[in-house]
Amino acid sequence: MGVISIMGGGFESNVHAVTKDGYHCVLIDCSRKNLIDTLARHCLIPEAVLLTHGHWDHIAGCAELLKHTDAKIYCGEGEDKFIFSEENKSIFGVNIPKFEIAGTFKDGEEIELCGMKIKVIATPGHTPHGVSYLIDDNLFTGDTLFKGSIGRSDFPGGDMDELVKSVKKLYALDGNYTVYCGHGLETTLDYERKNNMFVRA
Ligand SMILES: [Zn+2]
Repeated sequence: MGVISIMGGGFESNVHAVTKDGYHCVLIDCSRKNLIDTLARHCLIPEAVLLTHGHWDHIAGCAELLKHTDAKIYCGEGEDKFIFSEENKSIFGVNIPKFEIAGTFKDGEEIELCGMKIKVIATPGHTPHGVSYLIDDNLFTGDTLFKGSIGRSDFPGGDMDELVKSVKKLYALDGNYTVYCGHGLETTLDYERKNNMFVRA
């Protein structure tokens, strides 16, 4: 299984392409326009977009991706309503173009896409219904957990207590994982458990 991180989208957010066969991929978030050209350079066909949360800098490429591919877009249960809410629109001051959400995930749900087993972990706090995804030895945390830091909780719909609980829920997973974040470089769960400035295990 391979992870290709496409960095430097809108607001320096990351898109992570996860593939088992090196061809069909699942995208974690879809923050940048012209993503299709970048995927084509890597010979990747996106089959699904798994949104960690609905902030503009993580969904900005969704409408365009749907125009050009058959990818289906998913998010945490309840986040679908938050994405198109006035509350979310007010954060970035942009009009969020409607795009179809094919389905939503509950906490603990296990799905299979592109031949990969994917576990959904509800991690609210940065947004009301944000989620993280566990694929093999890789954990995709969106804006919940960063290298040495955690996400903001001061946006509309954010909640610091929930966010800290969510980070601790990730720390409570068994074993170590490579952590791919919504912004910045990857880290490991063990490193954050010991060294994170904001929440430690
Ligand atoms: Zn965010």
